[in-house]
Amino acid sequence: EPGITFENVHFGYDEDRQILHGLDFEIRAGETVALVGPSGAGKSTIARLLFRFYDPSAGRILIDGQDIAQVQQESLRASIGIVPQDSVLFNDTIGYNIAYGRANADEDDVREAARGAAILPFIEALPEGFDTQVGERGLKLSGGEKQRVAIARTLLKDPPIVILDEATSALDSRTEQEILATLNRVARGRTTLAIAHRLSTIADADRILVLEHGRLAEQGHHADLLRRD
Ligand code: ADP
Ligand code: ADP
Repeated sequence: EPGITFENVHFGYDEDRQILHGLDFEIRAGETVALVGPSGAGKSTIARLLFRFYDPSAGRILIDGQDIAQVQQESLRASIGIVPQDSVLFNDTIGYNIAYGRANADEDDVREAARGAAILPFIEALPEGFDTQVGERGLKLSGGEKQRVAIARTLLKDPPIVILDEATSALDSRTEQEILATLNRVARGRTTLAIAHRLSTIADADRILVLEHGRLAEQGHHADLLRRD
């Protein structure tokens, strides 16, 4: 199975300033790949192109061998789950926040769905129950708790592709390690692109892509890249 393929992808937000300069890479189905590189290199732009917030100015992006420009927007969005750095939660219960999009989900329904999607470990790590009101008028969740809810929400939809766009970068490293360890247990078998900037975050990745100024500077395994430093 081919997974995700970038073929000579060029892109600029403005015509006179290119951000990505002919990117070629592949992420095999089921692989966990970390995308690292300095701020401004174009990492988030890659995530936005995959979700078709923008289209490449040249080149193609394929998912499972199909050009995403030819795929129905709905089915593309159903196949990709993005967890951003600062997830926004609704002023509602934890259960609603995890299950939004599912009508009238009560705690039992959400629990059942969570068990099906193997994401219970994320929910069980939360200090409060599904009925707890969060947001301005409710409990204020910590950054780590918010991200657990956001990751659970994304995984509940059971997308075959998961993009973590600096999803744990703002957290203290202990919380980050706990969340990544849980993710490693539950996200096996999914195609995962983890955008990161800390080396510790990517130690478990199957492969690492290093992006610099919109070009792939290096790729390899964690140990290979450390050896070259
Ligand atoms: P990274 O995620 O690696 O930090 P980004 O993909 O966010 O990098 O940004 C790459 C470049 O594109 C940066 O120079 C940034 O300023 C520019 N950029 C990002 N978003 C926009 C936008 N919406 N409009 C114009 N330029 C943008
Ligand atoms: P749905 O309509 O199925 O609820 P959306 O199309 O709103 O899904 O979003 C799909 C996923 O992409 C969600 O996990 C959402 O958090 C994420 N997402 C949507 N818009 C953005 C955005 N602008 N930046 C980052 N992630 C986003």
